[in-house]
Amino acid sequence: MKSLSLKNLAKTYFDAYKGEHVTAIRDVSLEVPAGEFVSIVGPSGCGKSTILNMVAGFIPHSGGHILVGGEPVKGPGPDRGVVFQSFALFPWKTVLDNVGFGPKMRGVPKAERDAIAREYLALAGLSHAADRYPTELSGGMQQRVGVVRALANEPDVLLMDEPFASVDAQTRMTLQDELSRIWEERRPTVVFITHDVPEAVFLANRVVVLSKGKVLAEVDVPISRPRV
Ligand code: ADP
Ligand code: ADP
Repeated sequence: MKSLSLKNLAKTYFDAYKGEHVTAIRDVSLEVPAGEFVSIVGPSGCGKSTILNMVAGFIPHSGGHILVGGEPVKGPGPDRGVVFQSFALFPWKTVLDNVGFGPKMRGVPKAERDAIAREYLALAGLSHAADRYPTELSGGMQQRVGVVRALANEPDVLLMDEPFASVDAQTRMTLQDELSRIWEERRPTVVFITHDVPEAVFLANRVVVLSKGKVLAEVDVPISRPRV
């Protein structure tokens, strides 16, 4: 697992509609030790996705530094896994093959990656869905598979952008419980974006409040599980 370090991070976009530069991230410094679970909360437009996309290496930053495991981020890499709000599973692959896709890309042989995928599906209580196709599953189930797929890649840093925003309340609680259980077992470094404060507090051991592109507050949270 790798640490994450943001130092005086800044991002300006050129807004083609306004014809001017807009500052999305002003001066964000944040240290996330390896194995820590940090939630970033804040209202829409405060810059949460921008931070995540820069850490993922999808977009360049305009100032400051991003270090993953002490190394500057130069682009996307297999050490960082990303989960978005919409899951984007491969519809022509079974759940097992979707979950095993990351290991496949790393050249892991079929038998071994099937074993990895089955292990992660079991961790999430999804063994029964292994041979189903995504379209046979509800949206909530697909999102659960999406999260498992990201975890089966065993990234050092897991970046999650409102991953549970589009599922019903019951599924959302199931996903939260699954994620916290897997995190406690495997301890990946996690950055979790949400605008839901209870969710942020339930999942993370540190909550960062972002406002207008700046860190407003950082709060350590005692782990409060189990919930039920
Ligand atoms: P959040 O994830 O907290 O909702 P974002 O990171 O998406 O916030 O956006 C932060 C700010 O940057 C907003 O003002 C948004 O309009 C602006 N922004 C985001 N992406 C772009 C882009 N590609 N071009 C121009 N402005 C952008
Ligand atoms: P979020 O769910 O993070 O609030 P948004 O709906 O604000 O996301 O943005 C969705 C996408 O649109 C993102 O890829 C973001 O970078 C882009 N975007 C947001 N604001 C702007 C903008 N003002 N100009 C161009 N692209 C933008």
